[in-house]
Amino acid sequence: MSSEQFSIGTKCVQAGYRPGNGEPRQIPIIQSTTFKYDTSEDMGKLFDLEASGYFYTRLQNPTNDYVAAKIAALEGGTAGMLTSSGQAANFFALFNICQCGDHIVSSSSIYGGTFNLISVTMARMGITTTFVSPDCTEEELEAAFQDNTKAVFGETIANPALTVLDIEKFAKAAHKHGVPLIVDNTFPTPVNCRPIEWGADIVTHSTTKYMDGHGAGVGGAIVDSGKFDWMAHADKFPGLTQPDESYHGITYAEKFGLGGAFITKATAQLMRDFGSIQSPQNAFLLNLGLESLHVRMPRHVENGQACAEFLQQHPKVKYVNYPGLPGNPYYEIAQKYMPNGGCGVVSFELEGGRPAAEAFMKELRLAAIETHVADARTCCLNPATSTHRQMNDEQLAAAGVPAGMIRLSCGLEDKKDLIADLSNALDAIG
Ligand SMILES: *Cc1c(COP(=O)(O)O)cnc(C)c1O
Repeated sequence: MSSEQFSIGTKCVQAGYRPGNGEPRQIPIIQSTTFKYDTSEDMGKLFDLEASGYFYTRLQNPTNDYVAAKIAALEGGTAGMLTSSGQAANFFALFNICQCGDHIVSSSSIYGGTFNLISVTMARMGITTTFVSPDCTEEELEAAFQDNTKAVFGETIANPALTVLDIEKFAKAAHKHGVPLIVDNTFPTPVNCRPIEWGADIVTHSTTKYMDGHGAGVGGAIVDSGKFDWMAHADKFPGLTQPDESYHGITYAEKFGLGGAFITKATAQLMRDFGSIQSPQNAFLLNLGLESLHVRMPRHVENGQACAEFLQQHPKVKYVNYPGLPGNPYYEIAQKYMPNGGCGVVSFELEGGRPAAEAFMKELRLAAIETHVADARTCCLNPATSTHRQMNDEQLAAAGVPAGMIRLSCGLEDKKDLIADLSNALDAIG
């Protein structure tokens, strides 16, 4: 199915898997570690990347590929892959083009797990990162680049700071320096924003969140726009533009072209060596979530907007962060990139800081305390004591996550009940 042909809602339901005559209507779960061939020669062609096909689920599985093709269609990309988690997706997206001695420019306003991945774990691998504010000027952004910079990274709507990335500004700077922009589009999902349309080259997801949407399976995805010309910057990306000796001297950018090189390399090298693949069972569950993504996202936005408006006028609430509120510093930019709204996640601080936040959260009946967001069921969290525990106060401030902040993820319940729950808990804390 051509990715251009249908609207986003139709793609959510039908893209990726087109059964032939008499084949299963629903995506089959190919619960098999391996695949059978008639001759060693047939299998050899797969190992040489001379033919496409499956041989071992550590690298690739048909169920996953149907679902990855759907996500690629939703994002308007040329190829996609599923990973075992969002963490694996961001690691693979970066490590596919960065090696020891390389450098990344990243927005400082990103998910705590990603911050730790690049600032600690990837730094140990010899890959360094310069963090810039998402609100930096073009000059400040420019100054962050080095000769060894290989990628620019940011989140469309950052978890949990809810800053909005100026995708065009970051894409322009990345392209000026001959490197791709990688955007983690977990929060808006392609239903509300498609970063490739604004210049992003690679899009990543924690499918654990809205895409699955029911808290059923941890997973990730990477989509390649097929637009970044690796060969035009061949010296920067030897992994894509020079022969891979582990595949008899194949050069990915030559053999698989703009549309296929990035994902083929990530599959053939990173999945082979790290094996962080999503289980076919989880891919099946993810697809069930995707089939209703376009129906669920507007409801998450509606509930997020209603809760944000309620909290904003409440005397016990110090401030509310929600890009859909007029007056929010990201309101205009959110309108530009996400005219139908962003997501159902709202963050706010109560008068009384961390102790008030803890007391309030204890009183909530519908909103459960969970290390999760973007679920059908409303949940909440104090990032400083959980997801962002590894950050000091200075880093928390830079990431826009003060210690007393509460992150509220509005689910799919009736908004009247959600507001009543918030109101009762605010009353109860005296
Ligand atoms: C949750 C999240 C991740 C990490 O995803 P996991 O599936 O938990 O590994 C990455 N980026 C963003 C924006 C997230 O919200």
